[in-house]
Amino acid sequence: MYKKLYQAIKKYDNIVIARHIGVDPDALASQLALKEAIQLTFPTKKVLAIGNNSIKFRYLGKLDKPENIKHELLIVLDTPDKRRVDATDLDDYLYSIKIDHHPFVEKFCDLEYIADKCSSTCEIIMDFIKHTKLRANKSIAEKLFLGLAADSNRFLFNSCTPKTFSLVAEYLQKYKFDIAQLYQKLYMRPISEVRLQGYISENMQITEHGVGYIKITNDLVNKYNVDSASSGNMINNFNFIEEVYVWVSITEDIKNDIIRINIRSRGPEINFIAEKYNGGGHKYASGARVKTFEEAQLLIDDLDQASKDYLKKTKER
Ligand code: AMP
Repeated sequence: MYKKLYQAIKKYDNIVIARHIGVDPDALASQLALKEAIQLTFPTKKVLAIGNNSIKFRYLGKLDKPENIKHELLIVLDTPDKRRVDATDLDDYLYSIKIDHHPFVEKFCDLEYIADKCSSTCEIIMDFIKHTKLRANKSIAEKLFLGLAADSNRFLFNSCTPKTFSLVAEYLQKYKFDIAQLYQKLYMRPISEVRLQGYISENMQITEHGVGYIKITNDLVNKYNVDSASSGNMINNFNFIEEVYVWVSITEDIKNDIIRINIRSRGPEINFIAEKYNGGGHKYASGARVKTFEEAQLLIDDLDQASKDYLKKTKER
């Protein structure tokens, strides 16, 4: 499969790389790293990485303006469904490729490579570069490491396999990037967010069957001087709470007139529930978007039921 992907990249001179809306480090880093790798290997090709920029992840690099797009090859990274492709119309291209590590949702590209057991899209790109004539350098290696580390929550999940560690070791050996410095970029945050984290710890509600959740209204967003993505961005900090099997951040986003929801689990599968609420994602890490806090409560109720079933099945309690 890597050979086919490489041949398609080799064939087209104008390449656009896109990824999912609601950008995260894996999506953005894989996009920018693949762009650099293609340009390093084929200096005459024009490659654009497009999508909405994110101030929070600006250390990863800047995206391109979509004005000068020649619609030849589109590569969509880290995106399982068409509706979540950011900032471009798939039908405009001669040929399209998808590379993703989410569970399969739908086929929407001509050529698709899905490795849903893989820690991250960045890990796939590491492997892809390793097995083809695509070239890499330190900057590419740094980006791929950052995306992988972010999506695996620093190698915390079973999606990190011996292959994951081998790839990281190989890249580290070859490109000698500074892990501590990279982690500073990834995890540095303002005191306002730490204070919000304190609020969440103090006020998290826990349902009968171990669903921990917090509702952050726009007033709280303003009071803590954070933005509507802040609470969701710290969802991984609430792992390992004895009484909590599933945890949820629910934040009012006045600007976009939605309620943002981030969900994590250490047992019950949650992505099929997220799908019911205009969302989706991985078995144990998903997101959703609803219109009201009442709708969010219905989601909590569904998650509580899933947690109840899980606990019954596993007799964990
Ligand atoms: P997040 O909580 O934003 O880090 O997202 C966790 C996972 O769920 C990622 O793989 C996202 O791509 C996916 N995800 C988040 N929000 C949505 C959504 N509204 N629809 C589908 N997938 C989502």
